[in-house]
Amino acid sequence: MLKIQENVALAPYTTFKIGSQAEFFAVVKSREEVLEAIAWSKLNKKPLVILGGGSNILITKKIRGLVLKNEIRGIEVIEKNEDYALIEAKSGENWSRFVNFTVERDLYGLENLFLIYGTVGAAPIQNIGAYGVELKDYFYHLRALDLKTGHEKIFAARDCEFGYRDSVFKHRLKNKYFIYAVTVKLKTTPDFKLDYGSIREKLLEQGIKEPYCRDVIRTIQEIRTSKLPNPALLPNAGSFFKNAEISRVKFKNLLKKYPQLPNFPATKNKVKIPAGWLIEQAGFKGKKIGPVSMYAKQALILVNHGAAEAKHVLALSRKVKAAVKRKFGIDLEEEVRII
Ligand SMILES: Cc1cc2nc3c(=O)[nH]c(=O)nc-3n(C[C@H](O)[C@H](O)[C@H](O)COP(=O)(O)OP(=O)(O)OC[C@H]3O[C@@H](n4cnc5c(N)ncnc54)[C@H](O)[C@@H]3O)c2cc1C
Repeated sequence: MLKIQENVALAPYTTFKIGSQAEFFAVVKSREEVLEAIAWSKLNKKPLVILGGGSNILITKKIRGLVLKNEIRGIEVIEKNEDYALIEAKSGENWSRFVNFTVERDLYGLENLFLIYGTVGAAPIQNIGAYGVELKDYFYHLRALDLKTGHEKIFAARDCEFGYRDSVFKHRLKNKYFIYAVTVKLKTTPDFKLDYGSIREKLLEQGIKEPYCRDVIRTIQEIRTSKLPNPALLPNAGSFFKNAEISRVKFKNLLKKYPQLPNFPATKNKVKIPAGWLIEQAGFKGKKIGPVSMYAKQALILVNHGAAEAKHVLALSRKVKAAVKRKFGIDLEEEVRII
């Protein structure tokens, strides 16, 4: 049965360790409890706000409504044949535990997404991605509960309108559904993507030419822990900004001024520029302003050195955006969800 508490501090539920209070707060561990919360929200005319692992969120004000902390767990093999397997995880499951579950069963696809923080249910919201792989590459479908009616709807990949760190759940269907379960379709034979960043180089350093799944996730773990701040020691929410996508025309003009400008193809007409590089060039890498800074080893990550509040994060974010705009004429967009 749903247990609703009042005036609960939210900072401990976020990896930024920043947050005001929730007017109402409840942990949900089953579909029935979500349906109870939907009924409560209708009766009391209070909105529902869903919280997973709190690793992609900046809470700037008191949340008027009921915050649901999702702890609905369980992973199941739905179908397996010679070519592929369909695996479903409930949305409150820890993402990396889910990746581990697939790796232990020699199912291929999610290795590069190992050690991304948070829950399975939040993964489709921003189409999580790392080292050249995105959730959409292995996504099969998701089941979601309508926050008004409680009815279940199945979303296939095309319904989710996935883009770079983007989906329909950030736009047209924002705050409309509780994602209940996600199913991925994985290969039963190796399907590694090793050419992004230093994955292959690191494997070769260990003398591994034909890796197993375990080798790949161990290598991903080594790369990530050497570059990214551990939120338990230095609170943060991962990349604060998205990489910038600019037109080819703008890219060519910038290249004349900055011949070393790093870039990747994005779409037919757009080029992706690493936001970390732009922030570093704008002079913000490692720069501390009050209790916050852009991380010294990876300028894309905004870190909380202790007693930061949302206003400190927002002030630094504004400064970074203005400096990048001045120097490159590029508008950075936040990846972290600000509520
Ligand atoms: C150190 C670090 C490194 C990171 N690296 C990466 C990376 O490499 N790639 C990447 O893509 N991300 C990365 N992230 C960001 C983050 O891990 C992902 O965005 C993750 O999917 C967020 O999951 P969460 O459960 O913590 O979501 P939360 O922060 O709790 O929620 C995020 C949003 O999703 C909504 N939401 C959550 N669950 C549900 C649900 N069940 N139904 C409907 N809406 C829901 C929330 O309302 C909120 O708007 C990193 C974060 C950290 C701290």
